Amino acid sequence: MTAPILQVRKLQAQYGATRVLHGIDFDVKPRGITTVLGANGAGKTTTLRAVCGMIRVQGEVLLGGERIDGKATEEIVRRGVAHVPDGRGTFVHLTVEENLRMGAYTRRDKDQVQADFERMYTHFPRLRERRKQQAGLLSGGEQQMLAISRALMLRPKLLLLDEPSFGLAPRIVRELFDILGEINQAEGTSMLLVEQNASMALQLADQAYLLETGRVVIAGSAESIRNDEGVRRSYLGY
Ligand code: ATP
Repeated sequence: MTAPILQVRKLQAQYGATRVLHGIDFDVKPRGITTVLGANGAGKTTTLRAVCGMIRVQGEVLLGGERIDGKATEEIVRRGVAHVPDGRGTFVHLTVEENLRMGAYTRRDKDQVQADFERMYTHFPRLRERRKQQAGLLSGGEQQMLAISRALMLRPKLLLLDEPSFGLAPRIVRELFDILGEINQAEGTSMLLVEQNASMALQLADQAYLLETGRVVIAGSAESIRNDEGVRRSYLGY
């Protein structure tokens, strides 16, 4: 069996005196997509922040077998973890192309960067059409696509996605998730996807974990979780 690209062990996190993650364990397989599901306030966003070093944690986070917990976010990014936060965070006054260029700021292989613009526009044809437009003028779905492609310009080993479906129409969510699946297949980028939209996330992912108030309560293959009766009733609505 191949070792996981990401291993999270006994991860604890807190804001001030309030503990939010109570020792959670999960993995992301190489070229795999793991989803962390849960209701509002379960600790999903905190999990991503913990993985990319934005908050102090206890426990272990290993990327490709090496400890990254306790390292600065910059160092974690340099090792190949890219984060697409909730709220997207594109530079609204810059054009699509300028945003993509910002995404590649740590890279020295400038010729390859040019080729990667093309790759992004192939995955996200809407962005090619809008490449000279200011990001702030894009639709919600296009801004999400831009945020994801900007993160991919880092050529990450692992992409952290915080609720990419948030606020988007179902048709756009489907389009976006199809593209994420294509990128995973074509480029082998591993993904850790945090979602409230359990139905879409379980279609895309291979592994799934359900968080409730900072604890993993169910873990397994996405397929087995999709068939779990409790998950169906509470999170899938059928
Ligand atoms: P949502 O979908 O609403 O973002 P979530 O599962 O991502 O939910 P988190 O954002 O990780 O949940 O929040 C987990 C808990 O931590 C919540 O009770 C939240 O109120 C609290 N929390 C989050 N951020 C902070 C913060 N900066 N300071 C204090 N408490 C926080």
